[in-house]
Amino acid sequence: MKFQAVPDYHMHTPRCNHAIGTVTEYAEAALLVGLEEIGMSDHSPMPEGFDKAWRMDRSELDAYLNEVSEAQNIFAGRLDIKMGLEADFHPGTESYVKEMIAAHDWDYVIGSVHYIDAWGFDNPDEVKQWEVWDVEDAYCAYYELVAASAGSGLFDIIGHPDLIKKFGHRPPLDSQRVLDAEERMLVAVKKADVALEVSSAGLRKPVCEVYPHARIIARAAELEIPVSFGSDAHAPGEVGHAMDVCLGMLEMCGIHEVAAFSGRERRMQSIKRKTSVTQKSVSAGT
Ligand SMILES: [Zn+2]
Ligand SMILES: [Zn+2]
Repeated sequence: MKFQAVPDYHMHTPRCNHAIGTVTEYAEAALLVGLEEIGMSDHSPMPEGFDKAWRMDRSELDAYLNEVSEAQNIFAGRLDIKMGLEADFHPGTESYVKEMIAAHDWDYVIGSVHYIDAWGFDNPDEVKQWEVWDVEDAYCAYYELVAASAGSGLFDIIGHPDLIKKFGHRPPLDSQRVLDAEERMLVAVKKADVALEVSSAGLRKPVCEVYPHARIIARAAELEIPVSFGSDAHAPGEVGHAMDVCLGMLEMCGIHEVAAFSGRERRMQSIKRKTSVTQKSVSAGT
């Protein structure tokens, strides 16, 4: 790695029905790749009928909290493990999510948009809907929802902020409608004073690109929006995935710190380059 590790705040457990590995296994994997801080953020319970197959049941929430706190004790002094959650933003579910978040102590809550109305646009089983939707309409509707998620005041981090591109559907590059919607999303994130997640998960998806696009990261830098890192690991082997690539993008965009969270308080942590062996020997010889 060219950069010293920063916290990886996005990882799941099998309770969401599409991830593998215990919290202990994620923590071991984190230590192996040199991380000092991670945060678990499994898919939260949502109201009855909402995307039930892809998340933990409300009855599993206590076991999730217990598993994370046990791991916090086991790894104390070696790895800082934060208690996080990835909740969905979906109009009409806000009061449920608000009550669930308030009922427990979190270090941070990620808010993610995975649905436009009833369409799970990032679900491989629903990819055919892309043939029905106009791509520009889909992007605009998505960014409006992400803007609303920031404005809801429920979340600390906006998850994978251009997930809509997951399968590679793209609006024309000069689509002013989409660029305007993107800008409104970023302004809403800025106004809400929440962090934007830079996620390596997109690199493992058909789009093969970091979430969000470098253009969005560069604009976030101009607006001085804080960013955090997430691998969105659904298996221990994905912990810290492509962190270096993401940190390199941040550096290129002029961002030199990432957000870290504790008890839903944000602090900024510098991104530091590692001093390479060659650099050391060069300076030693001069
Ligand atoms: Zn997931
Ligand atoms: Zn997600």
